[in-house]
Amino acid sequence: MILPIIKFGNPVLRKKGEHIEKVTPEIKQLIADMFETMEASHGVGLAAQQVGRALQLTVIDVRQVEDRPSTLELKGKPADVAEIMPLVLINPEVTAVGAPTTGGEGCLSFPEIFAEIARPESVDVKALNEKGKVIEFRCGGLLARAVQHETDHLNGILFIDRMERKTKEEFRDELDALQAATKAELKKK
Ligand code: ZN
Repeated sequence: MILPIIKFGNPVLRKKGEHIEKVTPEIKQLIADMFETMEASHGVGLAAQQVGRALQLTVIDVRQVEDRPSTLELKGKPADVAEIMPLVLINPEVTAVGAPTTGGEGCLSFPEIFAEIARPESVDVKALNEKGKVIEFRCGGLLARAVQHETDHLNGILFIDRMERKTKEEFRDELDALQAATKAELKKK
């Protein structure tokens, strides 16, 4: 089922996600719905907060992006990124490895807003997958950017928080309008 995507201005986007103790049938259904929702919007990643659930859960799939490479290391050895796609991260722990690098980012909760964001080039990730099994890997490039963007969501952090002040100022009117529209929509309900 395609779920409505929560937009900037809805307080759930600022909530820290709850730790998931067990991958229940309900969580499995949520994961399936999140993939369907992300694919319908041509997104690379989607966090539970973006479908209204404050949980430590995100889904990622970078395979459709051909012009921005990703790298993967499993147990210290280079591996094919496709091997871990589509990717489900439950209760992820992310450690920055490389130096910050700038790259373009968008967010399904901020339609039409794209900006350059600085983030570490690569990260070490430890999480549970959709089967509740521990997975560990190191990734770089677009996948590392997606992992960091989505993990931020799980902690109530948004990409506008990572923008340079000057960049955020440039989007001020659009951000204010989006926030106001979301709040007006919430009031109607
Ligand atoms: Zn986002």
